[in-house]
Amino acid sequence: MGSKCGVDLMSITITNSGAIVLNKVVCDGYLPGHRIRVITHVHSDHLWGLEDSIRDSDLICTTPATKDLLEVMRGIYPPQIITPNYKVPFSYEEDTITLFPTQHILGSAQVLVENPMGERYVYSSDFRYEQTQAIKCDILVLDATYGHPSCIRPSFSKVKDELTNLVQSELESQNSIIILGFYGKLQEVMNLLHETKIEVPFINPPKVYSISKIYEKYGIALGGFYSSLSEMGRKVLRSQQYIGFYHPSFRPKVSKNSTCIFLTGWQFGLPYKKIGLREYVVSLSGHSDFNQLISYVKKCNPKLVITDNARPGSAPKLAEEITARLGIEAKPEPSQNEDRKQHYTIVGKKF
Ligand SMILES: [Zn+2]
Repeated sequence: MGSKCGVDLMSITITNSGAIVLNKVVCDGYLPGHRIRVITHVHSDHLWGLEDSIRDSDLICTTPATKDLLEVMRGIYPPQIITPNYKVPFSYEEDTITLFPTQHILGSAQVLVENPMGERYVYSSDFRYEQTQAIKCDILVLDATYGHPSCIRPSFSKVKDELTNLVQSELESQNSIIILGFYGKLQEVMNLLHETKIEVPFINPPKVYSISKIYEKYGIALGGFYSSLSEMGRKVLRSQQYIGFYHPSFRPKVSKNSTCIFLTGWQFGLPYKKIGLREYVVSLSGHSDFNQLISYVKKCNPKLVITDNARPGSAPKLAEEITARLGIEAKPEPSQNEDRKQHYTIVGKKF
């Protein structure tokens, strides 16, 4: 099927199972018959069907850091894995593939596929549009998690300042702090608190600890952190002021004596909100907000945008807004996704 931008649209699509298809290359999902899979990052909604891909593919491609995280977080070691560095193109059959860094989690990448005709397809994957480069392309497949116009956050520098002030003032009140967030976001906050010279010890449960060690391996300083199971970690937990960094599932176990800070992308408008005696939600996301998505699309300047309707978010609304604001053709794929809508409601109401 042809299109007004001269590209065969059937070769660029998002399947119901969440596979991003860029010609011969499949990203972040499984599609029978495709021989190369790119893993853009280690979050679970980007690893769908990975066992099938490992069984059927000639190549699994990801960044060196994502390979390391796959091992420590998931115990996955694909035998056919290749790990090109960012911005170093490689060829598979007639396509050229290049991974570019994104601001999301260590090792995360956006994917550029160029065909022999010089047509360029980009999959943004998940990203926050601050230190992420927009890539000129013909067709852009776009994350739509915060694709509704109501999803507007304060600037990252404002959130960073308010978060460090909040942490400082809770520490001055002699409170220990538990910070809850997803993997990657926790390490981002450890790094920023370390850089703002907050020097109380950091505690990580074992899985967070092993991820933090990979961050250190790639040169990201996270301060003094200890496994909650180590001798030193236990000592810190018993006797000192500390900041613990835990997955959100730890929330029911947080002691009433600790201050609890939940990092979430679903806090809009204000940098943070107090929701209990010692409980706060802070507006910190690894994803772009609505305005950042629109700015990124404008810079990529594609002829067509496909918004990701296989994962939670607002893909149909984002496609509408891209066309209305930028005059660029846009559509959600898959066109219907009832599961996604249900999930969006749950996530949207969570905090
Ligand atoms: Zn992600």
